[in-house]
Amino acid sequence: MFKPKAIYYEKEITNYELGKKLMEQYSDVPKVIIDSHNNIEEMRKKQNSEFLKMKSNLIIGVRKTHKFVPNHKVSDFLVPYTSSGCTAACMYCYLVCNYNKCAYLRIFVNREKMLEKIIKTANESEKDLTFEIGSNSDLILENTITGNLPWTIENFKNTEKGYLTFPTKFEMVDDILNIDHKGKVIIRVSVNPEEIINNVEYGTSRLKGRIEAINKLKQAGYKVGILIAPVIMVENWKKLYLELIETLYENLSQSVKRDAFFEVIFMTYSYVHTKINEEAFQNPIDIYNKDMMTGRGKGKYMYKNEYKKDGEKFFIENLKKFFPKNQIIYIV
Ligand code: SF4
Repeated sequence: MFKPKAIYYEKEITNYELGKKLMEQYSDVPKVIIDSHNNIEEMRKKQNSEFLKMKSNLIIGVRKTHKFVPNHKVSDFLVPYTSSGCTAACMYCYLVCNYNKCAYLRIFVNREKMLEKIIKTANESEKDLTFEIGSNSDLILENTITGNLPWTIENFKNTEKGYLTFPTKFEMVDDILNIDHKGKVIIRVSVNPEEIINNVEYGTSRLKGRIEAINKLKQAGYKVGILIAPVIMVENWKKLYLELIETLYENLSQSVKRDAFFEVIFMTYSYVHTKINEEAFQNPIDIYNKDMMTGRGKGKYMYKNEYKKDGEKFFIENLKKFFPKNQIIYIV
């Protein structure tokens, strides 16, 4: 389990059950009181080179904004939930675009208020809505600290309508296997070739563990998805991703192969990543390819259309070959 070097916390967290629990859980960890989890001067002033060290701290606060953002992929809304940021350090992490070097893990203790709004919105809607609760962090990782997932699933399962969904790059799913979730939770496990996981997705679970997690979740009755993301077009990318698809085919259970769905997302990268990766990692591999990528505004880069088209064709062909029964929800 993650043991923080120091805890930075807002005073009011002790007014909440989870805040009290975390303070007790980490009673032996040095603590610093902060005014706001959004603006910790000491962290703001640190150099990019301290990015990884900064991630060894845990920030605990109260979430003030609860704005749902409409979404049209696997969910209807992206919902701010119980954490943002992460203790791992994937070199392309989308959260770095939002939080820059302050992409460390923050936990928000007012979970009752957040879940209440989701349940109210779900029940008031005419149709079944799906809420993406993991777009700002990795909830399987967070759960090893807070135990928030069993709590969330237990409290959501009896809503009349709606589903929860979240993605993960972690294998620690045992905590949620024996819950009567009533089919209301969709879990999407993100995978990449072993070589990319080892060299780019620092601090996450290895491929084998993630595949075992998919099989366990499916056996526990969850609806599961497989996110091939982000696709990084390194020199031998077709070979690596074909091996990945073959590994999935060989190791996923029959039950997963029957109806798990796929999502495929090509990597986007940014100027912020380039700076942080250069300064924080020792001998980082360069995942930005200036010949294959093009600007998409605000210092962000994506693969040029011709390469994306080739990539789309590759994934459609090979996923259809190995997983003919499984839906590819989108490729972006
Ligand atoms: S696991 Fe997810 S949230 Fe954590 S660093 Fe990697 S991409 Fe970012």
